Amino acid sequence: MLGYRMIMTDTNAISIRNLSKIYQGGKLALDDVSFDVPQGSIFGLLGPNGAGKSTLINILSGLVMKSSGSASIWGFDIDKDVRNAKAHIGIVPQEIMFDPFFTPLEALELQAGLYGVPKSKRRSMELLRAMRLEDKADAYSRTLSGGMKRRLLIAKAMVHSPPVIVLDEPTAGVDIELRQQLWDYVTRLNNNGTTVVLTTHYLEEAEQLCDEIAIINHGKLIAKPTKELVGMAREKAVLLTLDKPLTAPPRHAAFEKAELIADQVVEITYNKDRMNAGEVLAAVQGMGLGIVDVTTKEADLEDVFLSLTSGDAE
Ligand code: ADP
Ligand code: MG
Repeated sequence: MLGYRMIMTDTNAISIRNLSKIYQGGKLALDDVSFDVPQGSIFGLLGPNGAGKSTLINILSGLVMKSSGSASIWGFDIDKDVRNAKAHIGIVPQEIMFDPFFTPLEALELQAGLYGVPKSKRRSMELLRAMRLEDKADAYSRTLSGGMKRRLLIAKAMVHSPPVIVLDEPTAGVDIELRQQLWDYVTRLNNNGTTVVLTTHYLEEAEQLCDEIAIINHGKLIAKPTKELVGMAREKAVLLTLDKPLTAPPRHAAFEKAELIADQVVEITYNKDRMNAGEVLAAVQGMGLGIVDVTTKEADLEDVFLSLTSGDAE
């Protein structure tokens, strides 16, 4: 695994104060957002599409100009100490973009040059290996698959060994296998001391991966829920009355939990990121059980969570 410098100081990895962004045309994309990302954490910025996540990340990377407020990275103000702020962060953008005519190795060397990393300190091949791209080192970037391109972007963000890495929706639209690989990689990075910030609209991703979660919607930071709360919010339950009594609840790999409430009544909890009520019913019927009645049940907390994330908060 890669060796990272891990300099712990008493500052936060990222500190954001009263950050606002109004785009040309008047769209208020960020509205007075303040929060801190502690050093060493995996921090999840969770919110639906259009919430303002990329706007915030792009302000940190200098792609978007903020309208007001301030931000610092590893204690360095992004306006007053641009060089140091940039040196301490690596950002993987949501959109895949790079020059199709460079090879992955060339792209990393070029990026290292941009960051002023001396030749002796470059570790392009090491990064390609970590991203399982070593056999693609000399291929044209345009010939890489979508997943490979995303991994190359991650490698690019790390050429200067930043103590903070930010991934903007790293798993949106990627298949389950790559998603798992990215999760593993993020966990390993973090175990080696890198602070990780990721944005996501998947409750599951935030819950499984992050130590701290902030929910953003309509440009406002609206909650910093615990993992437990997020976990509850992504579960849903159905109560099924069956056509015959059972002695044990029906089992299925996709159910989170199945409980016998009465002889003929079973409560099945499932992850709504993964399946819907129709699929639960089909699974039960597939076991040869007839369903006489169905009631859906929502955790009370789910209502709270949903009202936090998709309510008409203005
Ligand atoms: P997210 O990343 O959470 O999906 P974004 O930060 O991309 O959200 O967008 C936040 C809001 O700002 C959205 O309503 C989006 O349409 C708007 N927006 C994003 N970029 C621009 C832009 N360049 N000009 C005007 N509006 C924008
Ligand atoms: Mg986005």
